[in-house]
Amino acid sequence: MSKDRYAIDSNKNIDDTLKLISIHKGVNKGFFFMLLALYAIACIGRIRTTYSANDILNILGFSVPATAIIGVFSSLANICVICLTVFFRKTGYVMSMLLLIVQFPGLFINIFVRHQHANLPGIFTSILTIIAISVIFLNNRRIEKYQQRMSEEAVTDSLTGLPNRFAGKEFMDELVAANERFAFVSVDLNNFKSINDTMGHAVGDKVLVEIANRWKNLADSNQTGTSDFVSRLSADEYSLIIRGFNTDLDLLRSIRAYKEELENRMTIDECDFFMTACFGYSIYPDDADNAGSLFSAADAAMHEIKRTNGSNCILQYTQNLNKTEFKMDIERKLRNALENDTVFFNLQPQFDINHKLRGFEALARLKDTDGSFISPADFIPVAEEAGLIDVLDLCIFKKAAAFFGEVIKNSSDALTLSINVSVRHLLKNSFIEEIKEVLDSNSIPPQNLEIEITESIMIDSAGKALECVRDAKNMGIKVAIDDFGTGYSSLSYLNKFPANLLKIDKSFIDGMNTSESSKQYVATIISIGHILNLEVISEGVESDDQLATLKDIGCDFIQGYIWGRPLPPEEARKLVCA
Ligand code: C2E
Ligand code: CA
Ligand code: CA
Repeated sequence: MSKDRYAIDSNKNIDDTLKLISIHKGVNKGFFFMLLALYAIACIGRIRTTYSANDILNILGFSVPATAIIGVFSSLANICVICLTVFFRKTGYVMSMLLLIVQFPGLFINIFVRHQHANLPGIFTSILTIIAISVIFLNNRRIEKYQQRMSEEAVTDSLTGLPNRFAGKEFMDELVAANERFAFVSVDLNNFKSINDTMGHAVGDKVLVEIANRWKNLADSNQTGTSDFVSRLSADEYSLIIRGFNTDLDLLRSIRAYKEELENRMTIDECDFFMTACFGYSIYPDDADNAGSLFSAADAAMHEIKRTNGSNCILQYTQNLNKTEFKMDIERKLRNALENDTVFFNLQPQFDINHKLRGFEALARLKDTDGSFISPADFIPVAEEAGLIDVLDLCIFKKAAAFFGEVIKNSSDALTLSINVSVRHLLKNSFIEEIKEVLDSNSIPPQNLEIEITESIMIDSAGKALECVRDAKNMGIKVAIDDFGTGYSSLSYLNKFPANLLKIDKSFIDGMNTSESSKQYVATIISIGHILNLEVISEGVESDDQLATLKDIGCDFIQGYIWGRPLPPEEARKLVCA
């Protein structure tokens, strides 16, 4: 197959798809020239028999008058031009017309100059043949147009005008047959349903058309550096077929260009829309060797993004598999570390706004076999999924308490040890008993301990969790709501929850100096906290600007790299006044 068939120029998506799946594949050139040769023979035969019209010819032993043969040659010539018109459409029709018209001067000379009236029927035959082939040609055109429309409808999405799922699959089949490397990207819009539900289907349709236009223009512009084919699969699902990338980075750059194009503000019927989507992709031949499997692989990657709340908006199918292997590896290492008691902790200092030490948050640490650290962002979720988080929490608590008990014995300050408590740990029947035991054995007054519970845990497991927290609070233990602002707790819930401290999540602190709304948000949380009689600590404070703003808006405590990173216990000890 010629490479040209796949040289789909992005701006001709539909036309090229039609070419690829065209029903009429063309009749070969040999037949064309055979008809011309036959026509030439018929014309020569007719001329020769016309010139010897009075002769008697001997054909296969029969005596035949030459005049009787003229008609045979004429009919043969007519059949040739009709066949040309039928099989070769426009080219055949033009050629036939030429062949018929060039006969006229000769016929006129023969009749009117040479007075050979035997040519008279020839004129009528030629005129009638011209009429016949014109009728055939016009009829063919009509049928062709109809076929074209049918084919277009079969491969076109009627709303957006993009190629549809069928066209995309046909194109992939062709690329697979040509063994050409390409990526198939499955794109699913986020929250599109809510646009339909709140703004109506007419607006939803306009959004879909706008996205199609943006992406088609981007593909046409060749700005991505790759050859891209955009199609719409179903309601809010699109797909991209990307070719001509040398490295995975080139491919990612292309996909990102579509992502950015989508995320630019969209104004429809005077309303602004900010669309996002999940992009899952698979690569031929790395991930699958046929169109169907590539579809499924890209879809699986796309659904993995949805499942993980879209934290990674572009994902390759294989990464998904690797991720599972990666998690299994972490789980193995975590189990080993718990068994061999090699899990350890760091302490991150917390300060009041005047830089006076308030206490420390204990953070779990795990080392890899090569001595490097495995990030808590990797091993904490694995510990949660594997049901090891309560064991890990208790292990860190015991170790941190052993150290902290020693420290406060020699310190005049009333320091606080904050520990992270997972829901699994909190809901364990033995939770309060274990805490009590550890506190007692290390001579730590309950007032010096703080348990940090994330806002989302607090909402998800309301009833029983609330009871456990109340029990802890009744013992004198302090309660902090961690990552505050990332969940959706209501004010009334917050009012009921027996907390002492709100920990404002780092993401709001990050945004504070670039966005006025983040600053207002943080200021509001602090005010609400104070109204509800809670103290407020800001997490992840890194810059002087952030610190100055937090002082300004009345934040009580600070935890962040600006005044202290998580430290090994011996380093932390140095911060405590004797
Ligand atoms: P977290 O409880 O919100 O802990 C604060 C995280 O923010 C820590 O990350 C800390 O190192 C980091 N951090 C603090 N200040 C800054 C700053 O100024 N800049 C930046 N970039 N980061 C800062 P880490 O230690 O990686 O812990 C991540 C998360 O893992 C913790 O978030 C907590 O949710 C979880 N975690 C850690 N240890 C434990 C544990 O023993 N038990 C449980 N259940 N979860 C834990
Ligand atoms: Ca925490
Ligand atoms: Ca936090």
